[in-house]
Amino acid sequence: MILDRFRLDGRVALVTGGNRGIGQAMAHALAEAGAEVAVLSRARPDPEFRWVPADLADFDATSLMNDFGRLDILVNNAGVIRRADAVDTTDADWDEVIGVDLDAVFRLCRAAGRVMLAQGRGSIVNIASMLSFQGGVRVPAYAAAKHGVVGLTKALANEWAAGGVNVNAIAPGYIATDNTAALRADARRDAAIVERIPAGRWGTPDDLAGTVVFLASEAARYLHGAVIPVDGGWLAR
Ligand code: NDP
Repeated sequence: MILDRFRLDGRVALVTGGNRGIGQAMAHALAEAGAEVAVLSRARPDPEFRWVPADLADFDATSLMNDFGRLDILVNNAGVIRRADAVDTTDADWDEVIGVDLDAVFRLCRAAGRVMLAQGRGSIVNIASMLSFQGGVRVPAYAAAKHGVVGLTKALANEWAAGGVNVNAIAPGYIATDNTAALRADARRDAAIVERIPAGRWGTPDDLAGTVVFLASEAARYLHGAVIPVDGGWLAR
């Protein structure tokens, strides 16, 4: 049955930043599809999830993965954004954004890849952005990191497809979370954004739920290195 291929029963999933925003919606979606979900986060997640406490700015991915055990699905969702012109971007802000949004993604992919290649099976879903394709406004470190996430996704897909590991990415558009609260609070900015989105509204974290379940599932077994925009048509415009 085709719908059975979307089920995740018996799979073990790890979602970074699954305590709130997009990651929280993804953690719930994966659990609803049958996966046993763990959340890597600084703050305690919803009680139904196993908690893997870690700060992605300062962690050891290899020992974290050794302690974690079997892993079938990794969702690299946690991310941080700092807004400033390039000339005003501090080293600390640059290092934090690149560290959490790119370095940590690589380290977790590498550690998970070792486990998944040994199993001969696994799915990694990296959360990119429309700023994986555009420069954005006053977010140079974030755009650099998110462009890097797409390059990394393709490089790993290329290396690991033969080993049975699927590496793909989702590029969300404007999604209503804490991350974008300041944009939505500015009425003029908010109206300009909505006017530019073909779907005519902000996305919700739940709008991404179906895509992450799909990419984590057998239904996506021949997808390697895909970057799926879930953006209300933003990039199509
Ligand atoms: P939120 O700001 O709502 O949540 C960010 C999550 O990342 C939180 O769980 C946060 O944890 C976690 N996080 C940040 N820094 C660290 C760290 N050092 N260690 C561990 N966890 C950390 O963001 P969104 O839900 O909106 O974004 C999720 C992903 O989607 C990000 O990668 C973002 O770049 C991407 N994205 C979002 C878009 C949007 O419009 N919202 C658009 C395109 C991409 P804590 O609670 O501890 O702060």
